[in-house]
Amino acid sequence: MVTVATAVSVTTRIDTDIVIAGCGPSGALLACLLARLGYGVVAVHAAPRPARIEGLGQRTIDVMRAHGLVRALSAVDKPVRRRAHWGGEAGDYNQEFIVSRDTFDAALIEDARSAGIVCIAGRCGTIQLDETGCVLDIETDDGSIGHVNARFFVEARGRAAPRVRSGGLHGPKTTGLIREVAASGVPGTVIEGFRDGWAWFVSSRNQAFLQIFVDSTQGLPKRDGLAAYHEQLCGHLKHIPQISRVNCTGPVISRNAMSLLSPDLVAGCSLRLGDAAVALDPLSGHGMFAAFGSALAACATINTILQQPGNADLAQKFYSDRAIHAAMRNARIGRDFYRLETAWRDQPFWAARSQWPDDEPAHEPAGSLPASIQHMPVVANSLITEAPVVVTADHPRGVWRVDDVALAPLLEMVRRSDRTGANELVEILAGQLKVRPIQVANALNWLRSAGAIS
Ligand SMILES: Cc1cc2nc3c(=O)[nH]c(=O)nc-3n(C[C@H](O)[C@H](O)[C@H](O)COP(=O)(O)OP(=O)(O)OC[C@H]3O[C@@H](n4cnc5c(N)ncnc54)[C@H](O)[C@@H]3O)c2cc1C
Repeated sequence: MVTVATAVSVTTRIDTDIVIAGCGPSGALLACLLARLGYGVVAVHAAPRPARIEGLGQRTIDVMRAHGLVRALSAVDKPVRRRAHWGGEAGDYNQEFIVSRDTFDAALIEDARSAGIVCIAGRCGTIQLDETGCVLDIETDDGSIGHVNARFFVEARGRAAPRVRSGGLHGPKTTGLIREVAASGVPGTVIEGFRDGWAWFVSSRNQAFLQIFVDSTQGLPKRDGLAAYHEQLCGHLKHIPQISRVNCTGPVISRNAMSLLSPDLVAGCSLRLGDAAVALDPLSGHGMFAAFGSALAACATINTILQQPGNADLAQKFYSDRAIHAAMRNARIGRDFYRLETAWRDQPFWAARSQWPDDEPAHEPAGSLPASIQHMPVVANSLITEAPVVVTADHPRGVWRVDDVALAPLLEMVRRSDRTGANELVEILAGQLKVRPIQVANALNWLRSAGAIS
């Protein structure tokens, strides 16, 4: 594998294994994972932008901790209360960890650097791809032009990634209008729906922001009219102004917030990652979790394509099936959440989002189809391979292992077994599989909750 120096000033030409355009959550984690497998990685990133504040759930924090993104973790604020006014009900739902994306993204880049990745501040230009690899042109922030030669190209520029014109899927056009407001009250977040959209207020240690999400199919006021428009939208809010006096102070920043599934997920020696592959409606609050998840899947996919080209088709199928499944499931969960808000159901904003992407259920009820054992691609030792998995109505891509116990052989054993005593069965299966009884019990619980066994 190729190794390159980790400090770059004037770039002319770099040879490496993998070049990643973008070093946000997905690009940074993927870069670290690939570097740990021994690959040379170059990541190109634009300067982190201010006035972007986001909330993370505990699962996202757990993923970052599990994969050693220590600097990014230290840029996360303490958790704050999360309040929702939705569908005629009000309640506190868990907690949220607040991040300012400029400091958070800078910390992600530092995590990548400390893992040995060459991080170049600049803009990606033309990319030329052929079956042997790619050449990416870059213009660094100091004005010099460089080229990165790599065996594999990863597109991780988020929603800024160039898009193929046809194919894929997108939801109703949505824009987030973000404005800093005078901070007051206790730190926390509040979400509320209103006639023309929904709003997310976040107050952290010393800053507060109000993000308002509206339909932008018919366009929005020009930049100099955005502040007045934001204020007009604020006038529709009932709950947020009761918690905090919404005194707007800063300019309005607009962010594209449309749901997106890209058609060109993985082909040859290139792959789209994170938001560049699947961008979720910010209402889900899971964008960053999904971006990290996509990096985990991409690492095994790329490793397989480069190390075991004979399994490249299998790896590509694994990656694209996973992305499509995640996009559709999240879109349907989002649709159901919009449907909960019935007060404005006939208004264009709510009507469009309660119908997209279709009428299929987000989750099939457990046991609605008999469980089967099928051969599907799985991740083992950072490679994609095929293994027997348990496929159920709600897990059409199958589940391979739970608590280190392979489910398919376990299901076969249970089906063959004539024992009825639960404890006795667990002991026998644990002995046969050479694992601890608690692991078998956890795997059996999973099979039971998925409707695979009674
Ligand atoms: C309005 C809004 C609010 C959101 N709120 C939340 C939230 O509260 N919680 C949550 O979990 N998710 C939220 N999300 C989603 C979240 O921001 C994304 O899912 C996540 O950032 C995706 O990570 P990524 O690495 O794929 O892309 P990004 O985070 O977009 O990173 C892209 C990278 O590409 C680089 N880049 C871009 N253009 C170029 C270029 N031309 N050349 C070189 N580099 C370039 C950037 O510098 C950056 O490093 C929100 C999204 C929106 C739009």
